[in-house]
Amino acid sequence: SHPPASPAALSRTAAASPTSTSTTSSSSGSTPASGQKEDGFFQSILDSNPYFSAGFGLMALGAGVTILRRGTLAGASILRRQLLVTLEIPSKDKSYLWFLHWMSSQSRGTGSLASTKVSSATTTASAAKSGVFSKWTDNLADKINKRSQFLAVQTEFKQHDNGSVSTRFNLVPGNGRHLIRYQGAWIQVERTRDAKMMDLSTGSPWETVTLTTLSRDRAVFSVLLQEAQQMALKNQEGKTVIYTSWGPEWRPFGQPRKRRLLESVILDEGIADRVVRDVKEFISNEKWYANRGIPYRRGYLLYGPPGSGKTSFIQALAGELEYNICILNLSERGLTNDRLNHLLTNLPERCIILLEDVDAAFAKRDKTQEGFHSMVTFSGLLNALDGVASSEGRIIFMTTNHIEILDPALIRPGRVDLREYVGDATPVQIRRMFNRFYEGQDELGDRFVKSLEAHKVSTAALQGHFVHFKDRPEAACENVKYLFVRDHVV
Ligand code: ADP
Repeated sequence: SHPPASPAALSRTAAASPTSTSTTSSSSGSTPASGQKEDGFFQSILDSNPYFSAGFGLMALGAGVTILRRGTLAGASILRRQLLVTLEIPSKDKSYLWFLHWMSSQSRGTGSLASTKVSSATTTASAAKSGVFSKWTDNLADKINKRSQFLAVQTEFKQHDNGSVSTRFNLVPGNGRHLIRYQGAWIQVERTRDAKMMDLSTGSPWETVTLTTLSRDRAVFSVLLQEAQQMALKNQEGKTVIYTSWGPEWRPFGQPRKRRLLESVILDEGIADRVVRDVKEFISNEKWYANRGIPYRRGYLLYGPPGSGKTSFIQALAGELEYNICILNLSERGLTNDRLNHLLTNLPERCIILLEDVDAAFAKRDKTQEGFHSMVTFSGLLNALDGVASSEGRIIFMTTNHIEILDPALIRPGRVDLREYVGDATPVQIRRMFNRFYEGQDELGDRFVKSLEAHKVSTAALQGHFVHFKDRPEAACENVKYLFVRDHVV
């Protein structure tokens, strides 16, 4: 029983029938003669039933479309493989940060960074070099750039010698797709963060930047990476890089800082000279150590109350020697003997190791039971220190506010070769600091020193006082009483 055919069904039948006819006729051609009768019967049913014909037609059409689509995809993928090159930079690689900075400078400089959802990057690329078109594409990139949606902020933090702080925000490409044009080549930059994958050693999500460009422009990658590297190195020139531990590895902490001048740290007479001379002599005596089979390292301990300039002096010393600094806090959570060992044996080149507040790590231990806060044991620290050696010489600085509670084993010669007390401000220091802030105010300077005679004041508190009364030496003298109060807080 046929239902009455609707106009839609009819038109579909009509459209599909040529295909279905050809299919059925070819199959009937191959059937043996004995089955011809039944075939004829089925054939007549099929031919007379518009639904069957339409079904076959649609199936064939569907199959055709699928084959075509697969073909197109395969073709596209072959084309992609042939025409495009891809470069992957994982976040673990050194060049990852270099590249991000390079890119942020691109967006600042030429404005050709485009944060984009434009997928035509690859298709437009082939023609990008021709004059008018390239102008058009540049404009396009510019336009898109103005509407950039995927930027991330990276804050630059700077502490000046006088203690003031300034910050600057750099916009680096965030997660997503960006389009840049570099030396006439279009490059698609895709920054992705893998939510499932973690860098187990650092606990940070795994990130990758993937660059894609036309095969014929592949040379641009190495040029680009070189430029990014040079830019990073130039950024460090004349500066001190501060590294902190990040899992088992060292990572730069913020931007490289302008070198701190030794004169900017005012210590009591003789201290700075003694340390600087000793370190310089050590650095120039590599052969002496090698000939005697002595590990080429030297340890220093600066001890004294907080805010006396110990850390600042080490920073200035690093600047003077053109070294960088690796700062490690032994009471840091999750730091184990193994990690400590690994960190101290895998240091960046030319750096001073700074172990801050060495007393704190072990004093805390007593109160909270072994290994609760930090897993570094005392013997672990000694082992790690003894293992530190390298052909370029290792300079280890330790600071503490309480030398009296340090185990003698930690500060015996070989581990600490020179120790210096860096204390509260002496009259000489107070006077020199006053002069640095207020030039030519001798009389006021004398008065200021006198008013502090019976008090203990840290150099950090003094600095704070002078910054507060900037350009007002009289006010600094009159309000000297605030220093005593503040000093209790320090
Ligand atoms: P410490 O390491 O002894 O605790 P810091 O070096 O961290 O002290 O000093 C803290 C702040 O005080 C820094 O901003 C530093 O510039 C300033 N400061 C402390 N002592 C001095 C000093 N002797 N000369 C110049 N600045 C100092």
